[in-house]
Order: sequence, then structure tokens, then C-alpha cells
Amino acid sequence: MHIRYRVDATAAEGHRGRFSIDLDGVEAPSLDLVLPSWVPGSYHIMNYVRGFRGLTARPSGGAGSVPVERVASDRWRLTTAGIHSLTVQYTVYGHQMVTEAFDLTSDHLFLNPALALPFVDGHLQEPVEVELHLPPDWRVVTELEEVGSRPPTYRAPTYDELVDCPIDAGHPLVLTIRPHGIPHRISICGEGGNYEAHRLEEDLAKIVDASIRLVGDSPLRGYTFFVHLSDVPDGGLEHASSNSAVVRRDSFAPLEGYQRFLSLQSHEYFHLWNVKRIRPKALGPFDYTREVSTGQLWWMEGTTDYFSDLVLRRAGLYSPAKFLEESARIAKDVLSSPGRNSLSLEDLSRIAWVDYYQPFEETPNQSVSYYSKGYLVSLCLDLEIRHRTETRASLETVLRRLWTEYGKPGRGLEEGELQTVADRATGLDLTEFYDRYVRGTAELDVESFARYAGLTFGPRPKAPDDEAPEPGYLGIRFEDARGFVRVTHVLLDTPGRRGGLSPGDEIIALNGSKVSLPKFEKALEAYPPGTPVDVTVFRRGYLRHLSLTMGKSPPQKYRFAAAEPASDLARKVHESWLGVPWEAPKPEAGPKKG
Ligand SMILES: [Zn+2]
Repeated sequence: MHIRYRVDATAAEGHRGRFSIDLDGVEAPSLDLVLPSWVPGSYHIMNYVRGFRGLTARPSGGAGSVPVERVASDRWRLTTAGIHSLTVQYTVYGHQMVTEAFDLTSDHLFLNPALALPFVDGHLQEPVEVELHLPPDWRVVTELEEVGSRPPTYRAPTYDELVDCPIDAGHPLVLTIRPHGIPHRISICGEGGNYEAHRLEEDLAKIVDASIRLVGDSPLRGYTFFVHLSDVPDGGLEHASSNSAVVRRDSFAPLEGYQRFLSLQSHEYFHLWNVKRIRPKALGPFDYTREVSTGQLWWMEGTTDYFSDLVLRRAGLYSPAKFLEESARIAKDVLSSPGRNSLSLEDLSRIAWVDYYQPFEETPNQSVSYYSKGYLVSLCLDLEIRHRTETRASLETVLRRLWTEYGKPGRGLEEGELQTVADRATGLDLTEFYDRYVRGTAELDVESFARYAGLTFGPRPKAPDDEAPEPGYLGIRFEDARGFVRVTHVLLDTPGRRGGLSPGDEIIALNGSKVSLPKFEKALEAYPPGTPVDVTVFRRGYLRHLSLTMGKSPPQKYRFAAAEPASDLARKVHESWLGVPWEAPKPEAGPKKG
């Protein structure tokens, strides 16, 4: 069947685009058009279909109509009996500037095809074409193959490849860099933006170069970094030959914010190997209509995140200290989640759809981000491999093997195969590690792995001149409820939990004194750890009194630091990992003298 979509953005009144689909060579007596419920890279079921209206069909070039029945919210059944060529028409409302968007304004179109171009059921593997009708001065940026210019027309070999290529049109600023001779476009859309074009080109080129050197190969003929500037950031979404990021327009300075931007770009870029090509069998071909389960998402996201930080280190965009600081920050995320060991990484991966993507009040007590824990386990696995092979192998060796055996030839990973590849690539038996930390729920002793690289790991000691009073700790998270403190989460094994606080409680007084949101944290300073306190709350609108004892806050910051003695092997591991020789710890600064 010949499938050709037409997107008309010439009269984008009220953010509604006009669409049509020409279907030629129809044989079956009926066919279904289906809109995906999710897009690869974002593992949750969405209601993209809500903006669809007025879907009708008629024989091509002829009069009459083709009966259409909406058999489900996202599925239309066309009775085509005897009609071999027909045209479907509909409109879609699109006004949301997020990574998985259909956004249509008077000066811009950003189209993730899955959000507005339904597929023909049973014909996912056939080539499709997309024709764009745009205001004359608009420029199009997409990684789809261009097959015509008036009107701009593109072709994808399959529907999967179509939905993996966003289309951006309007007035983007397009910069081009050519690391390793491969054209990479940086397409920046949106007003303002405190970026420096030359620096952006240089730094993204460094990321590309360091990534290619780490994997040892690139499958690309071209790539686009879509950067949308907005006031509400939405992170990034990976594709096989592009990624789209929605960032705040002031993301490019100061340095710390800019490093976050680079870290996002490094993560999404690394996905072109890890997840887009090195991928679980379950993730392609895709079933767009329902959740797809795999125990390997932790590797696809957490390990990608770990490697993308390593890329920043190799690219010189992170110093060794910054790399360790970021790793310690992620370790803190994991260690401060009471639910970090309630499920294995494999199970966290399998339930990501209803867990990570749909957090609720009990999430921190029964779960942990598979990004953060996946990162930390990858870091420890890397050190384990470097240590046991005396640096002859590393997690990079494993990734390169995954690339040559799976990613490059396009072979999907079976469930449970990640360890087999790691064993083969390193010559080690990693069963115990995987049993404990990937398939199991053992507490990860980060310190013991850090030792392999001549480092310690633990809470960051208080600065000697830090004399700030230690506030009491309740173990709750809270939000603003019209100036009141509304409890959103009560963490396990904390004074709040033991004292009977519940999510939803509005705290109005401590020991009889009124508290309100702006001064709540300050108020806690009056109740140091060990102090009994009466907490007055409104619970479901009714007054209650609770008695509890303030606790001590868990560490807010962790750090990796050099530790003596470091064996020759530890020094070797350190250098192979961070790219700099191990250095003895510097003496701690003494108290400041006035
Ligand atoms: Zn990711």
C-alpha cells in the first residue's frame, strides 16, 4: 500500500493543523487507523488522541464517502470494500512545547509524527511519505530523507523510522559542526537564549568526539540536536539520528547551569547507541498501543547516564572533581530514598510505566529512580571490572561488545542477556554482582567499590567553620497549600512516620505556635534533634494533635575523596577511570582564623 501523509500548517488558526492521508493500493475490505499511545524513549501511556477531530474518508478524486467507525478512542475503522484508493482528512489541536510534542503556532511547527499521523494497522513496516504545506518563508529541519522540495516531501522506510524523526519548521537558527566528518546540526528554536554559538559548537563537537571514541564507532550519516528555548524546561528525548530538548532560555550560563545542559545533551546523544541501537528485543518492533515490559531499562537509562558523564569527563567538560561530585550527588539521591532496596533494578525497569512515570505519595518508600540507581550500579560495576581485570577491561569494553554484537548488526537483546555479554567481554563471572545488585536488592556498599580506585565515599563532613544550628528532622516532604505546610510524603523510619503524620496533613502549629510555609524550615531550627514536639494539623479538614520527637537529618551531601593507602592497582584503576593519576589526599583546611 502507498501511504502519504499531508501536513498543512498554512492556516494554523487556534493551533489546529489540517492533515490528510492518501492511501493507494488498498486491498482489504476494511482497515484500521491507529494513533500511538506512547513514543519510544518515554515509557508512559499518553492520550495524544484528545486533540483529534473530524476524521472522514472519501474515495480519492471521486465523490461519495468511505464509512468510518471510531471503534476505540485511538482507532478508526474504515470500510473500504472495493475502494482501492482513498483520502482521509482530520484536524489536530497541538499547543504544547515539550520533547514529545505536536506544537503549532503562527511561526513554528514541531511535530513528533506519532502524535498526529496515525498508522495503518498491519502496515507498520511499509515506507511512508510526508508532504509539508508551510508558510513560504519557513525552513524545515528533520533527519527524514528529503524526496521532493515543492512542497517539501520526506520519506521514511517504515512507520517506526517516521516516528523516530521529529519535524521542526519555522525560523530556527541552524549551526553545523562536522566532528569525525559527520554533519551534526544544532537547530535552535525560540526567542532569546543566553548561548554563545561558537562555544556551543565547540562543546557539542567535543561531546560527539568523546562519545565516538568511547564506543569506537558511529553509525551516523547525520544528526540533529533540536534545542527548543522556553520558560518551562522539559528535558530531552532521544531518537536514532537526533534528539529534542526543551530547555530554559537562560540555560547556557552560569557554568553550573550550562554543565547541566551539556550533561542532558551528552545523555541524549549517547542514546543513539544505547537504547536506539543496542536495545532490548521488547523495544522494537514497537507495540504502540500498550505498555511494553523489559527488565533492561535500568541499563538503557541509568547506564546511559553514567556513560554520558564519563563522556563529559573524557571530553574535558567535567574535571575529575566535577565528575566525582556529580556521581556523589546521584549516590545521595539513591541513599536518601527509603525504598531503594525494595525492588531489583530489573523489576524497577519492568514497572517503570506505572512507577517512575506515575509517582505518588508512597513512591519514595517503595521505589527509587532506575536512572539514579542504574547509574550508581553501573559506576560500581565499572570499578568492579577494572579492579578484577587489573584495568584490562571496563564497562566501556562491555558497551563496545554490545555494539559490535547487537547494536551494529541490529540484533535485539534477550531478557537476561546483559550479564552474559558482560561476562564474555570481560572474561569475568559477574553472577554474584548481578545477583546482588541487578536481579537482587542487596544494599550497595559504594565505599567498598570506591576503594578499588583509591577513594573513600561517605557523607561530606561539615565545614569546620559551619556553626549553623542543626534543625530538627521530621522526615517529610511538603508543599505550599495557600501558605500552609501541606505534607506530600512521609518517609519510612522517620519521626514523622512514627508520630503518625500522613500525606495530606496541613501542619499549622508546632508546640502551639503557628507555623506557615515561608518560615517552616526556620521554625524547625528551634527544635533540635531529640526535642519532643506537639504537632497540630488539619487532617481532611479536622483538627488533630500529634506528639513526636524530632530526629537527626540524614546526610545532605556525600563525596568521593582520595584515601591512603592506595595500592598500585588502585592507582591504576583510578587513572584508567578518571584519566588522571591518583593523588594523595590534601590535608583538610583548618578552622578559619579571624
Ligand atoms: Zn534517557
